[in-house]
Amino acid sequence: MIIVMEPDALDSQISHVVGLVHDFGLKEHVIRGTDRTVIACIGDKRSVDKGALENAPMVEKIVPILAPYKVASRELKKEKTKIAIGPEKFVIGGDKVGVIAGPCAVENRDMILEMATILRKSGCAGLRAGAFKPRTSPYAFQGLKEEGLKILAEARKETGLAIVTEAISVETIEMVAEYADVVQIGARNMQHYPLLEAAGKINKPVILKRGLCATLDEFLLAAEYIINGGNKEVILCERGIRTYEGYVRNTLPLASVAQLNSMTHLPVIVDPSHGTGHAHLVPSMCRAAVAAGCDGLLVECHQDPEHALSDGAQSITPNVLDEVIVDINKIAEIVKRS
Ligand code: PEP
Ligand code: MN
Repeated sequence: MIIVMEPDALDSQISHVVGLVHDFGLKEHVIRGTDRTVIACIGDKRSVDKGALENAPMVEKIVPILAPYKVASRELKKEKTKIAIGPEKFVIGGDKVGVIAGPCAVENRDMILEMATILRKSGCAGLRAGAFKPRTSPYAFQGLKEEGLKILAEARKETGLAIVTEAISVETIEMVAEYADVVQIGARNMQHYPLLEAAGKINKPVILKRGLCATLDEFLLAAEYIINGGNKEVILCERGIRTYEGYVRNTLPLASVAQLNSMTHLPVIVDPSHGTGHAHLVPSMCRAAVAAGCDGLLVECHQDPEHALSDGAQSITPNVLDEVIVDINKIAEIVKRS
């Protein structure tokens, strides 16, 4: 249920309604839009006297939310949520389509510092690289962990790029959030509910990747664990789902970008690297994702993909990334972005 306040409602009137919501044993989620404030009510509404709430000063109306997801829904908030990332506060969900690129993993200090300088020149908003790697095989490279986080922080200091890196456990998410500007929750962890709740407690934006087998409803409900935990800054990332198709590592359903844009106010970015698994497919999927209306791209880029410690097959080189950026600049204009 959403309580829609009149456009001129005062803070004291909003607080009064929040008090009533608490009196009915519900939790509130207040969203201040440009035009008006709405209050989403979370909890068991069977005992709620809707008439009493509607009578409170400056309440315009009460609307039920029909979708299973609530606080992430467009019914609750019409305008897209804007999330500022990194020292330069690049806005994801604004006019500009942000490119976040970098290797799958932090392999060593030199490659990260060099890559950060390259990406800065290319006009990227962020540097991505995993310090904690969720690998399918326990024998594969697991990441440099805290040492990797320190290298990423150094790259931010040198270039001003926003640092995006993954947290894979409840025990380490706070440490990751201390070093990172944006904490990534990976596809395999989209339904790791204690980790989602822990992501709700950090004070950094979160990129939540779609689970390999998750429906969009499940994806949005996972985002709501984070929002209900207290962190409203959630960026959704479509990274492909597992299908019967063997030519690609995952199948990248770009219709979900347009669909998510109609379902939720949260920004939506696309990862064409995990979405395809093959570097030669990445440029066309970057172009298509921007055309489909995404708010950003998360791309694996490596100086020497043939020697990458992880995901080399799907990593493009910096030169290819530059070509992609030239193309998406043009496409962004057609979809009224930049
Ligand atoms: C990654 O971004 O390197 C990663 C592990 O992605 P995903 O969780 O989408 O597989
Ligand atoms: Mn990867």
